Amino acid sequence: MQTIAFAPPVLESQPHLTPLQQGLLRANLGQRLQSQRDRAVQATIMLQEFSDARSSTDRKIARRQLMEMVEDARRLENALERMDTGDYGACVNCARLIPFERLEAVPEARYCRSCLRT
Ligand SMILES: [Zn+2]
Repeated sequence: MQTIAFAPPVLESQPHLTPLQQGLLRANLGQRLQSQRDRAVQATIMLQEFSDARSSTDRKIARRQLMEMVEDARRLENALERMDTGDYGACVNCARLIPFERLEAVPEARYCRSCLRT
């Protein structure tokens, strides 16, 4: 019996990532997104509990930290979305494929190394 190999369209557009590599990156992104969301929820609660008794500097710092968490979560969500649409792993500037080694270190990377330098 002959087996016909066909890859899902998403993988076809990114031949530089094996399904295993993509699975690892997706799990990594998902985990970090979850913990970042948890931290953001905690920070929101903390911020609400900051009464007027707290200095406005404290509130400002807490608010800035929360903004950074939200921004971080957005980057991770964006990477997961690009995985679903098949745009993941390509530099958004020059469209060159980003090597797995770099994605492993920074799964939400949007630029290749040479575009980062410029
Ligand atoms: Zn590039």
